Amino acid sequence: MTSTPAPASAALFDRARAVTPGGVNSPVRAFAAVGGTPRFIRSASGAWLTDVDGFEYVDLVCSWGPMLLGHAHPEVQAEVSAAVARGTSFGTPTEPEVLLAEEIVGRTPVDAVRFVSSGTEATMSAIRLARGFTGRDKVVKFAGCYHGHVDSLLASAGSGLATLAVPGTPGVPASAAGETIVLPYNDRAAVDKAFAEHGADIACLITEAAPGNMGVVPPEPGFNGFLAQTCRDHGALFLSDEVMTGFRATRQGGWGLDGAREGWVPDLMTFGKVMGGGFPAAAFGGRRDVMTHLAPEGPVYQAGTLSGNPIATTAGLATLRLATDEVYAHLDRVATTIRDAASAALTEAGVPHVVQSAGTMFSVFFGAEPVRDFAGASRQDTGAFAAFFHAMLESGVYLPPSAYEAWFVSAAHDDRAVQTVLDALPGAARAAASA
Ligand code: PMP
Repeated sequence: MTSTPAPASAALFDRARAVTPGGVNSPVRAFAAVGGTPRFIRSASGAWLTDVDGFEYVDLVCSWGPMLLGHAHPEVQAEVSAAVARGTSFGTPTEPEVLLAEEIVGRTPVDAVRFVSSGTEATMSAIRLARGFTGRDKVVKFAGCYHGHVDSLLASAGSGLATLAVPGTPGVPASAAGETIVLPYNDRAAVDKAFAEHGADIACLITEAAPGNMGVVPPEPGFNGFLAQTCRDHGALFLSDEVMTGFRATRQGGWGLDGAREGWVPDLMTFGKVMGGGFPAAAFGGRRDVMTHLAPEGPVYQAGTLSGNPIATTAGLATLRLATDEVYAHLDRVATTIRDAASAALTEAGVPHVVQSAGTMFSVFFGAEPVRDFAGASRQDTGAFAAFFHAMLESGVYLPPSAYEAWFVSAAHDDRAVQTVLDALPGAARAAASA
């Protein structure tokens, strides 16, 4: 699978591979799933990326979610520049941390948050806290939900009910994955069975608020509320991972799609991406009586040299303050326009597909059946996606380089950017049809 030659990117990729495994610092950037040369991006502004060859692309990845306002937003840049001028890290408490924590507590049902530097750190720390709080070891997760590269969460399992997991990668001890129970998503019977068998040993159940890491697979109506209740019934904590959905799916994140209306609250939540405004910042938070178990108030240890970094928290705060209801309404309109046009183009070209969304997040599955779990997501025609991806790239649209990813839009996706996407879709759909 190839696209337009990109000689400067290709040259950098060669040099990168000599000094960095696979040439990238996060695997999916390498285009391994779609083939071809990953584009090295030199700069970005608004909805547009510019690569080192000078090609421009409408960005439908948005740094895998964080860039809710678009790239290099002038007000965020100004706040960040002013913060940099004041010094970049003090290792002391700072005002931006307090302001960002207040903003997050104001938008979500958590009583308190602790800042960390990545989503992985957030879920890892939240799980330690859940184990410390409950005095239990087991963790329940769903196949196809990604929660960062935490040892105990890199467990996979074959299909079937309540399978005790084996590690999904070399390097994870069986003992770390052995405490993880992996279940099929949207499967209430599997959850009931796992809790019936192991309920007294389960510290927490972790789920993406609306999964976006197997493509977008929304929870079936009432599923998250059922999970919250099941956890409560068994004295386990319900941990909703909002690293991707937080401040993105809606103003209140994924919780804004169900919990806020149905009246249940997760015991713990994790956040990242948007709340860092493009800098390394993430957080975990939750019920006050759980959060007080964290050091220095409580016995569960957790710390970080750069946690709550003043530049990152300033960028996150500026981003959230600018993420008004109008911004979310715009994201909704843009997502709907692109989603509908993608579906129309694929239908016209005769390509079996299903478009699924959760708030402003959406993705296209290259298969005929609606997807409710990872097994369903895995039945896609990834070859058709690869052809579609490269045709879009050649037409100046940068999609996630994998069929298992959400597409992200931003406040900066204006008519010109959207029109570029709409113009690219019919040709890409025909390319997918002949793949
Ligand atoms: N949880 C979810 C739901 C995510 O989508 C991600 C990252 N895609 C993570 C956790 C891990 O975050 P990070 O890459 O910042 O470690």
